[in-house]
Amino acid sequence: MDLVGLGESSLDYVNLLPQAPGPDAPSKLRIDSKFDSCGGQVATMLAASSALGLRASYLGPIGNDDNGRRIGEELTLRGVDMSNVIVHEAASRFAIILVDESTGERTVLWHRDERLAVTEQEITAAMLTARALHVDGVDEPAAIRAAALASERGLLVTCDLDRVTDRTPELVAHVTMPVLAEHVPESLTGERDPERALRKLRRQHRGVICVTLGVHGSMALDGDHLIHVPAFPVHAVDTTGAGDVFRAGFVYGALAGWPTIDILRFANAAAAVSCTRLGAISAIPKLAEVEQLLQMARTESLIPHHESLIAQSVNPESADSIIRGFRDPKIQG
Ligand code: ADP
Repeated sequence: MDLVGLGESSLDYVNLLPQAPGPDAPSKLRIDSKFDSCGGQVATMLAASSALGLRASYLGPIGNDDNGRRIGEELTLRGVDMSNVIVHEAASRFAIILVDESTGERTVLWHRDERLAVTEQEITAAMLTARALHVDGVDEPAAIRAAALASERGLLVTCDLDRVTDRTPELVAHVTMPVLAEHVPESLTGERDPERALRKLRRQHRGVICVTLGVHGSMALDGDHLIHVPAFPVHAVDTTGAGDVFRAGFVYGALAGWPTIDILRFANAAAAVSCTRLGAISAIPKLAEVEQLLQMARTESLIPHHESLIAQSVNPESADSIIRGFRDPKIQG
């Protein structure tokens, strides 16, 4: 297995409405169209990794209900292994998503059965027979234990954290290449500027630390070198799940041993393709589509102009890789 993931999956009931519910809307709104889909940040990330060609396995949790079965079926269809999934006697997480068709804005109503929570006692080293582990912070003690066991064993460990708790620094310490949402470095350090925040985090963490910056792309601190890769200029229709697809691209490049700038570029490209389509799991790109966007950007000489390495801290090796252009994105090993 290339990658195992521990964290959120969900059955999403997506409803398209003529306008968002609220004080200015009628008390009854007709649903124009609706569909159900598997969601959740770790499930989506694993499905995206599988679409890129990685062998991915979901560790759970899901409930032993109909929604859990549907989540399992969709992930299996998308090539994600479910043979080690943790199933609890509980309802699976589900969300009712209301999309205002006129603006694309979403309201998410979600429910998580408390009995779904994975405990640290459930995490064993035997579950971590892969090259990489991806965790979120939902069941934090379990995520910390999994990350600690995995990093001790030399796995690449990545994360998707969107809230900061007392134990977040402990979790981040065990994650070998943290990929943080935009506001997380600030919450952890008190520094608003992403570069300053990443440099402050460097005092506690020696690995590559990455932050996603939405429409501004992504940034990483690699040693002392700050690397910023702007987002690909695409016509974005829905950015839901962009962070999950970014992380799949990130793991793909990191497992291949690419220089950090190439990892960010590839992850940005994968996320950008997903932004051009509606939905999260329904928007994940295939490897060929990511390669096509990278190829187009290269042909149009977009990349050297639109990427900036922060001048004073250019990593000569990374700068070289821009000049050399793209390497063939194949997975090593
Ligand atoms: P999250 O979905 O976790 O909040 P972000 O919004 O930071 O994460 O997006 C993740 C990545 O998706 C970004 O780092 C960027 O590469 C890409 N992305 C996000 N929004 C856009 C956009 N409007 N156009 C192109 N790429 C985007």
